[in-house]
Amino acid sequence: MPGRILIVEDEEALSILLKYNLKAQGFEVCASGSAEDAEIQIDEQLPDLIVLDWMLPGLSGIELCRRLRTRKNTRKIPILMLTARGEESERVRGLDTGADDYMVKPFSVPELMARIKALLRRVNPEIISDILSAGEIELHRLTHRVYRAGSPLDLGPTEFRLLEYLMQSPGRVRTRTQLLDAVWGRDIYVEERTVDVHMGRLRKILNKNATRDPIRTVRGTGYAFDENFLRTTG
Ligand code: CA
Repeated sequence: MPGRILIVEDEEALSILLKYNLKAQGFEVCASGSAEDAEIQIDEQLPDLIVLDWMLPGLSGIELCRRLRTRKNTRKIPILMLTARGEESERVRGLDTGADDYMVKPFSVPELMARIKALLRRVNPEIISDILSAGEIELHRLTHRVYRAGSPLDLGPTEFRLLEYLMQSPGRVRTRTQLLDAVWGRDIYVEERTVDVHMGRLRKILNKNATRDPIRTVRGTGYAFDENFLRTTG
């Protein structure tokens, strides 16, 4: 998955439209109809980017933006603000919101997609690049092919997504729950043990003709793509 996006928007039709389009681009998407609910979702799992409506029932988008900017773990999450035409957008232009970008409603969906990708590229180029490479491993997102030292590997779709997710953030430890959410989706119930089974399959194929295992097991927690692997070729 090329990143997790949280939509905070109380206009349901717009929220559904954005969700549909972002999913079609391969993003993992979650949605909230209020800032209060968004805060709960953010605490559960940090998104890679937030699309935030200005006018929300209860706590406003701008207030949520300010709160997120004061917290250490959410300070750097890119925020794209949505505003209605009028007075509010003038204040957004004044850049006193802490948002990284904004769009005035009604906006073109393709333009929003382009802005989202631009923001993600700035923060984490790996999230949206077509090819992820680390050491001698190369993962091609568009063709779903993986190579090690130039030889193609025959990975199943689940193993491909697991590897893609880990390669997006080398060194970052992912819990089994995070892996389940990112690869199988939040709405599906899968036992945590299933992650281990597929990770075992992934390793077997990945390391078939090689000695160094690029995947690190973090006991009691989950897995990471070993950041030391980036500098090696063995
Ligand atoms: Ca609204």
